[in-house]
Amino acid sequence: MLNTQISKAIRTTGKHLKLLEKLRIKTVEDFINYFPRDYTDASEVTKLAYLKINQLATFKGTILNIESSRTKNGKFITQAVFKDDTGVIEVIWFNQSYITKVMRKGSEVFLSGKPKIAGGHLTLSSPTFEPVRQEQIHTARIIPVYHGTEGISSKWIREKLKPILESEIQNIEEYLPEEIIQKFSLISIKEAIYQIHFPKDESIIGKAIKRLGFDELLLIHLKSLIAKYKNKKASTSIAKSINIDYEAVKSFLKTLPFELTNAQKLTLAEILKDMEKPHPMARLLQGDVGSGKTIVAGIAAFAVIKQGYQTAFMAPTEILAKQHLKTFEKFFKQHGIKIELLIGSTKNKEKKEILEKLKKGEINLIIGTHALIQKEVKFKNLGLAIIDEQHRFGVLQREVLNSHGFPHTLNLSATPIPRTLALTIYGDQDLSIIDEMPPGRKIIATHIVPENKRKDAYNWIRKQIKEKQTQVFIICPLIDESDKLEIKAVNEEYRYLANNIFPDLEVSFIHGKLSQDDKDRIMNDFQANRINILVSTSIIEVGIDVPNATVMIIEGAEKFGLSQLHQFRGRIGRGEQQSYCFLFANTKSEDGVKRLNAMTKFHSGFKLAEIDLSIRGPGEIFGVRQSGIPDLKVASLTDSVLISKVHETATILMSNDPELSKFPKLKEKIEKFSEIQN
Ligand code: ADP
Ligand code: MG
Repeated sequence: MLNTQISKAIRTTGKHLKLLEKLRIKTVEDFINYFPRDYTDASEVTKLAYLKINQLATFKGTILNIESSRTKNGKFITQAVFKDDTGVIEVIWFNQSYITKVMRKGSEVFLSGKPKIAGGHLTLSSPTFEPVRQEQIHTARIIPVYHGTEGISSKWIREKLKPILESEIQNIEEYLPEEIIQKFSLISIKEAIYQIHFPKDESIIGKAIKRLGFDELLLIHLKSLIAKYKNKKASTSIAKSINIDYEAVKSFLKTLPFELTNAQKLTLAEILKDMEKPHPMARLLQGDVGSGKTIVAGIAAFAVIKQGYQTAFMAPTEILAKQHLKTFEKFFKQHGIKIELLIGSTKNKEKKEILEKLKKGEINLIIGTHALIQKEVKFKNLGLAIIDEQHRFGVLQREVLNSHGFPHTLNLSATPIPRTLALTIYGDQDLSIIDEMPPGRKIIATHIVPENKRKDAYNWIRKQIKEKQTQVFIICPLIDESDKLEIKAVNEEYRYLANNIFPDLEVSFIHGKLSQDDKDRIMNDFQANRINILVSTSIIEVGIDVPNATVMIIEGAEKFGLSQLHQFRGRIGRGEQQSYCFLFANTKSEDGVKRLNAMTKFHSGFKLAEIDLSIRGPGEIFGVRQSGIPDLKVASLTDSVLISKVHETATILMSNDPELSKFPKLKEKIEKFSEIQN
């Protein structure tokens, strides 16, 4: 059965089960849907007489002799002699003591590896081996390569997966309507899943990927279209149409310290117009880091509040919520708007008062974190819900806030993806895009700094701080996505810099596990320029706005996705001063260098995301998940042909039959399907 727990389906240790869980494999179905990341073609079986030095080949033959020994430094070596009907070759394995248990003198085996000349002998070093069986799994075929983890190898996955796939494939039911399968010449879901793991030849891999990629995008798209349809249907009777007072909005704009960019004006107009309609707005406001989304949302809030409705503004972190509070207090001060903050660390007594006032309508604008979606939070008349950095929240969390009497909702996102793709992924929302930066911003000069120039970089930074009173962020490297190690790295980096490099300057550090009071104190000090250099983890950074900070160092830059690096870099270059970003990296790989070079050349989040996606698939690098780009397993986000096919299909399906009642299996599949990004 597909929903059988994996622990019941395979024989393995608790340790392995834990590791599988890390790979998000809990059921048979999860396992079957754990697709290879690559293939090795070892399908051609070669005779020893025709082997080529250094070329991967598979040989079939007999083990003439095999024995293990220990070297002086305690290493385990297995040596064998292997023969086929054309010749003989020496074989050697290191530290695989179990080999002599599965292979003996006389065993018929396949070996896959690269022959080399070593010490004057023709040698096959550490080849993949497999006994001759009815159907080979690890040799003499196109071999799937899986993303393993420490303790689980690709070979282990193949070995366990094959029998499960054989017995379960029959339980996978087709859910796509036959017309669609025909129209786009797709292969069946059964075949696609089987062949993506154990392809019978090269050409079938492409077909399997096409089918599974099509499904992946289609399910995401249909899911969001259905959500949109349901929202519209459920809310038509209780919609609030807001009668925007455009004169009041205009005079509010005059009180701002800057003029809106054209893009800000256009998106604002879209939002205001939308809220006048008698059904709730569901709109995504997209714009690159620093494009000024906050103020657009703030003006929308002003317009709603002016008409007597409340607005809620939810941010992903407490630091960010507090920053928004400050911003809005400044903008709204002279307009008599009552603002409060509700976050996890709000004291109980105060929280009670806030909840009471919210219910009575004595608060116009409530800013907060997840605390805003607790059950006890009740509004008098919520007109607009704004969600900042929306990809940081799950769909469910967004829906909770949206469910308060169906207010208009505005989601803010810096996720840099093309419009067609955004429509596919966020089909449940309408799109407004700010495609222009506020004037006067200078390009952030970005450099990759070699290790031997580190001292120079530090000296240069000291000079900038002393001469220009500028401030500096230092982002510590990401370590295995582990909080504990990251905090350790921050502590060590901080101590080193404070004691050895910048003893004459004010250095501080911040990370997610500090108490709220500490975090507040540090951020306040940084904002007030009482701290020159702030050492931080990768987690804390999102959305922070300190225009006086103009220098950033990113350590271990190779570990981050380009979108993530771009997000970091967006913390500087917010004022009119020239800003500088220095990348320290430990990579010699061609792709690694290419990616980092892109950071020095390109300054648009969209462009960088595209490059990132084309060099390394999504999901492989940290930061992709957090950047809001869905972590697709098969489909390529840059495959515009596929995206438009999916678009067409979804539109046709939904326009004839928005409940998908003619296709119950598809409907069920969509309900079960959850986007990995959430
Ligand atoms: P993001 O879109 O990344 O959330 P913010 O809303 O934080 O960006 O805006 C970045 C900075 O730009 C803020 O300091 C904000 O006050 C400023 N800003 C926004 N709009 C304009 C504008 N039209 N002209 C000048 N500065 C602006
Ligand atoms: Mg922001």
